[in-house]
Amino acid sequence: MDDLPPPGLQKFGEPVESVVLWRGRRFGLDLINVLTLGTVLVPTFVIVILVIVGWQVWVRPIDLLMLGTGLLLGGFGITVGYHRLFTHSSFRTKPVVKGTLGILGAVCMQGPILFWCSCHRAHHQHSDRDGDPHSPHLSGDTWIGKLRGFMHAHFGWIVFSGSYRYNASRVHDLYRDPVVRWVDDRYLLWVFLGLAVPALLGGLWSGTIEGAIQGFVWAGLGRVVLMQHMTWAINSFGHLFGSKPFETNDESRNNRLLALLGLGEGWHNNHHAFPQSARHGIRKGEPDLSFDLIRFLEKLGWVWDVRQVTEKQIEQKLRKR
Ligand SMILES: [Zn+2]
Ligand SMILES: [Zn+2]
Repeated sequence: MDDLPPPGLQKFGEPVESVVLWRGRRFGLDLINVLTLGTVLVPTFVIVILVIVGWQVWVRPIDLLMLGTGLLLGGFGITVGYHRLFTHSSFRTKPVVKGTLGILGAVCMQGPILFWCSCHRAHHQHSDRDGDPHSPHLSGDTWIGKLRGFMHAHFGWIVFSGSYRYNASRVHDLYRDPVVRWVDDRYLLWVFLGLAVPALLGGLWSGTIEGAIQGFVWAGLGRVVLMQHMTWAINSFGHLFGSKPFETNDESRNNRLLALLGLGEGWHNNHHAFPQSARHGIRKGEPDLSFDLIRFLEKLGWVWDVRQVTEKQIEQKLRKR
């Protein structure tokens, strides 16, 4: 029974062009491209143009408060949930914590858990070689090629349809997890709530429709835009700029700025050296807020079997100078 393929598929292993987004119904991956393009790139350009033409920035403290809270919650949904828990199984947890992290990740509009983890596992398997969905290094060595590589790694791979095919065989283990299936099966609901809740709170706060629109624009769309660019920056900048203390078969880098903004994910060379480790900031002076949260949840008894690397393993993999 366990080996039955996902609905609509003949068998595991074949790349597919659709993904379950709502109550077992499959949608073409084009929908993820369109959602990303419509909700992320368009508002980015609108905001940039508004700033350039000197429009009054129409934002209230309550919007900034909701934006900051949303970024932190959604950020942990992606880093602790989608990345460290679901993709790399770097710790174990209760169903309620797993479900909460899954929902917090889903509101960031980076696709359902199965889709995201399939892409990210392909990235680790083929890092910066053919088969890596978002390497900045595969578009040639001329400056045009480098620019194209950067754009592809940052958003081209997810925005333009056809650049990546979701592969169900990479997420066989997750597909068997009822919590993952439950969250993914309601993906569009979480996306809707991620935009509707800040609109509702913004409206209730001021008692006006205008307040609801401001909440929607800044803490809804604005949060999605910033979260997307943060995640994409790990794929683009995180494979281009920074230090490479560990011997890995790729161009991953440690970047302090990305680590601070990205809740610890910027220690990306560490992560490629030890993908299963729940802790990415593994050496002295490497802050890792996502790991701090995992450790806090472990102290509460909600998280266990937290995978970490030893000093000896770190020593062995450091590049010989
Ligand atoms: Zn990487
Ligand atoms: Zn990873």
